[in-house]
Order: sequence, then C-alpha cells, then structure tokens
Amino acid sequence: MWRRWVFRIGMIALALGAALYGLNAFSKAKCTQLTGELTCRVETREKLVPLSFDDGPTPEGVAAVLPILAEYDAKATFFLIGKDMERHPQEAGRILEAGHELGNHSFSHQRNIGYSRAFYRSELEQTEALLAAAGSDSGLFRPPFGRKLLGLPLEARDAGLHTIMWDVEDQPERFTDPAAYAEDILDRVRPGSIILIHPMYRHNQAAREALPAILSGLRTRGYEIVTVGELLERTGSRGGPAQ
Ligand SMILES: [Zn+2]
Repeated sequence: MWRRWVFRIGMIALALGAALYGLNAFSKAKCTQLTGELTCRVETREKLVPLSFDDGPTPEGVAAVLPILAEYDAKATFFLIGKDMERHPQEAGRILEAGHELGNHSFSHQRNIGYSRAFYRSELEQTEALLAAAGSDSGLFRPPFGRKLLGLPLEARDAGLHTIMWDVEDQPERFTDPAAYAEDILDRVRPGSIILIHPMYRHNQAAREALPAILSGLRTRGYEIVTVGELLERTGSRGGPAQ
C-alpha cells in the first residue's frame, strides 16, 4: 500500500517539476510571450543592427560609452533602470542629448515572476514617468533578465509598451579579453539582429573596452548601426494595436 503512495507522490512531484521547468523556460523565451508586442530580432535583408545597452545609468558608464559612440557617429538604445535614474538624475538627459534612444528596464530590476499585477504596473509606470521627465517616450521595454510570464506582458501591453528582447548577447563570463568579447559578438550578428551589451557597472570593463572593436567590426562587415526604434520603423515592425 505505502509503495503505491510513494509512487503516486513521486509521479505528482515529477509532473509538478516538469510544469515548473516548462514555465521557467517559457518565461525566458527570447522571441515569444503570451501577449503584447515583442521583438527579438527583425527579418530583413538590410544590414541594419541596433546596439542596446542594459542597466544603469551610472555616471561612469555613461561617461565611458558616450564618447566612443560619438567617435563612431553611432546611435544606440539604452534600457534604463528607474532606481538608477533616481540615483543619478542627470544621466538620462545626457544620453538623450547625445542623440540616443532610451527604453524602460523596470524600476527595481527584479525577476518579474510571481508578483502581483499592481507590482508590475508600478515597476513600468514609475520608470515611464522618469523617462518622460527626461524627455523620452520611445515606448520600448526590456524585461530584466529577459524574464516575463503573464502579469508583466499584460501590464506592458496595457501600458502600450513594445517588449524588446535580443538575439545576440554579450558573454562577459566567457570572454574577459575585450578583443575576444567583441569577436564573439561579431561572429553571431546577422541582418536585423539586436545586440545586448552591459557596459554600465564597474565590473563591465571588458564591454567598454570592446566597444570600439564592435563598432568598427560592424562597419567593416557592412552593417548600419541604428537604434532599436529605427530598426522597427524602417522594417515596418512596429505599431498596430497590441494583440
Ligand atoms: Zn538588466
């Protein structure tokens, strides 16, 4: 008798585990979510590639990245954290003034799974308000850690935000040498790719040092570097009411 119960409990645990595993994998899916607009890359023959920078802003990160982008006359998209914008109130305006695009990267940078709808709404709204105060209304949102399940996509959709994922992410844990870091990214880029780089914090030194090689490597390969918004506009990938 007890054996049958052990078996049953084992099977239930296994099924629960499989379901949780599936949900976890789905929450990390790059190119799909349950509702609302989402783009991870764009199908295009045009050699357009946006660089997107996540996290911050921090004064050191902004001071390191803006001059490099200016030197290569490249415009990028910065997904900013509301809390960091509050901590460093000048930086968002500085990035905008240099001609770049800003997007929403939530307020407190949580793994947004298992919270209430009200929590997600406030994460999005607080950061949208800070972005608007800085003069930005791109309507672009990137979920922290790329995590989203149901409540977050619903709130993003209701806020009219277009979720932007990526298909080429930096791998600083694998490539600590800036040249190798850049090469790894360049090897994986194709037309319409969205590149994700983390340059804002002190431990992101390799990203900052690799940036010139990434920019010049993209140009050598014939890519035009655009913002995420420009990629969406030019390929007709934006707009229409969210589903
Ligand atoms: Zn992030």
